[in-house]
Amino acid sequence: MPIRFYNTLTNRLEDFNSVEPNVVRMYSCGPTVYDFAHIGNFRSFLFADLIRRFLEVQGYDVDHVMNITDVGHMTEDHLADGGGEDKMELAAQRLKEDKKSGKVPDGAIENPDDPYQVAQYFTDAFLGDARKLGLKIAFEYPEKIPHATNHIEDMQLMIAELLKNGHAYVGADQAVYYSVESFPNYGKLSGNSLDQLREGSGGRVEQKDQSNKKHPGDFLLWKPDQSHIMKWDSPWGTGYPGWHIECSVMAKKLLGRDVIDIHTGGEDLIFPHHECEIAQSCGTSGEESFARFWMHARFLLVEGEKMSKSKGNFFTVRDVLSGKVTGRDVHPAVLRYELLRSHYRSNMNFTEKGLRDSAGAVRKLTELNARLEEQTGGEAAQIDNSYPVVAEFLQALSDDLNISGALGCLFTWISQKPDNPHEALAALRIINKILDVAPMEHAQELADSEEASDAGGLDIKGLCQGIDAARANKDYAKADELRDQLQDAGYEVRNSPEGTVATKQLA
Ligand code: AMP
Ligand code: ZN
Repeated sequence: MPIRFYNTLTNRLEDFNSVEPNVVRMYSCGPTVYDFAHIGNFRSFLFADLIRRFLEVQGYDVDHVMNITDVGHMTEDHLADGGGEDKMELAAQRLKEDKKSGKVPDGAIENPDDPYQVAQYFTDAFLGDARKLGLKIAFEYPEKIPHATNHIEDMQLMIAELLKNGHAYVGADQAVYYSVESFPNYGKLSGNSLDQLREGSGGRVEQKDQSNKKHPGDFLLWKPDQSHIMKWDSPWGTGYPGWHIECSVMAKKLLGRDVIDIHTGGEDLIFPHHECEIAQSCGTSGEESFARFWMHARFLLVEGEKMSKSKGNFFTVRDVLSGKVTGRDVHPAVLRYELLRSHYRSNMNFTEKGLRDSAGAVRKLTELNARLEEQTGGEAAQIDNSYPVVAEFLQALSDDLNISGALGCLFTWISQKPDNPHEALAALRIINKILDVAPMEHAQELADSEEASDAGGLDIKGLCQGIDAARANKDYAKADELRDQLQDAGYEVRNSPEGTVATKQLA
């Protein structure tokens, strides 16, 4: 069965073929790093991870790039020409308060007035969460996850080119704008016409002061602003780039092509962000399209409303995992599964019941995997993607990532109790390359590194063994001393049939 994906550009399902055989070049709009990413953001990122892992299992070599938006953009950036307050300044104020109240641990960020430190703080938090949730690209930082601030020069080159070829102009306020009237396809992705945009496109095109622009839909490429918290010299004055230009530039630079295969993001990015990316990229490349497939995830909702930073109704990954949301710890595999298991083109409601169901599903998969590993001694049979359950699983995903269909096939197969454990283990391993929940590919590595960094250089296992040895020698003072060391480092120390164990206590 051919792979079919829904293309926002054409509003229909289309057979997927890559520009170059066996290679897929894919770009995903990444996080803004003025705050912690919430699980709604991660729904969009995991959707991209699902596409990537699925295509890899289908034999494609997937070159995946995702940006970090760390330029100090404005709160009104969703409007075509920006405005509002500087997000980085707002983040600095928040961080200063959090530092005072102890919410931000000592040493985590030295100077919140330095926007680069703020951006790195939230970038590290994002990467930590993303790795826990098994986002493959998060293990490819920084090569495949570029910071926008490292590409300002290339943004200026692209802006200069757009000025040269008549797609951009300098407005009366000295800012550089893209002229939407110069690009006949502007509006094609979002289904907007230039007339609709003139009317304000449902409030998403700024209407306040249009005297600087030729058309209300014209959007910002460069804003001269000496007072901005992050600013760079440019031929158009010291200032900062518009939001959209970074993705056009980094996609082209890191993926090395004018036309890429897939571009992803959440549904709110269709307009204006992706519409503007297309105008900029095609405006410089002269190509008909920038990405062949535009794929968008629908929102994660809480009680029927979009989960968003501005509404304040959001949960971060760390809050969910540490039990702050549901009152009990949630394993990263469970949150990953929960965010992946409903179709990306339907809204998903985040509920405790959903998480409980996902925990049950992940437990089933984990137990099956453990049983098969034990029965086979870890020796899987040689099978390929035509093996029945694998073929069915992949066939469902080939139909525009029909994940419920795919999971349905998997659990039906499990309930039928597969009789050849070597083949079953092999099948589960292939499927788990996509699901990455039982077990998670990087779980051990992350646990080890977390243990090492949390322990501040303490040898946890060694200390536990030391306690056992001291007790065996009836040297209780020594045992107590070692136990105190562990407890001071935030570990809970318990006796178990295997001897002393120490577990990191959750904050
Ligand atoms: P941001 O950090 O706000 O730029 O968002 C990063 C990504 O998350 C973008 O692709 C957004 O479209 C996406 N996004 C934001 N809110 C949600 C949500 N509630 N559900 C799904 N995706 C979202
Ligand atoms: Zn983008």
